[in-house]
Amino acid sequence: MNQEKSIFSKIIDREIPADIIHEDEKCIVIHDINPRARIHLLVIPKKPIPTLFDLGPEDKDIMAHMMLLLPQLATAQGLDGFRTQINTGESGGQEVFHIHIHLLGN
Ligand code: AMP
Repeated sequence: MNQEKSIFSKIIDREIPADIIHEDEKCIVIHDINPRARIHLLVIPKKPIPTLFDLGPEDKDIMAHMMLLLPQLATAQGLDGFRTQINTGESGGQEVFHIHIHLLGN
């Protein structure tokens, strides 16, 4: 199935602007456009996996990479604690169908 490019893929490809604070070969990190905490980051894989339901064993490295990045990002933002959230599926409150981890801290 030919799925339309997600807004996050468009950000990764620099087709639309965003405040990118980290980029490496596997992911980018941006500030959420509608922050729900003093610090609200989104950690987004470059691979456009729609939801956690679509993960395969080949995605282990990507997911582990993003998990390991979270405390580094939090520390860089001056946080000594934070919350994470991954909304999954429409009924799970997901709006953008390209996996992302919310990192929230005050
Ligand atoms: P979710 O409900 O987990 O799919 O969350 C999607 C998140 O993406 C929301 O918190 C939005 O505020 C955020 N968002 C949507 N478009 C943009 C954008 N262009 N730049 C930054 N954040 C965005």
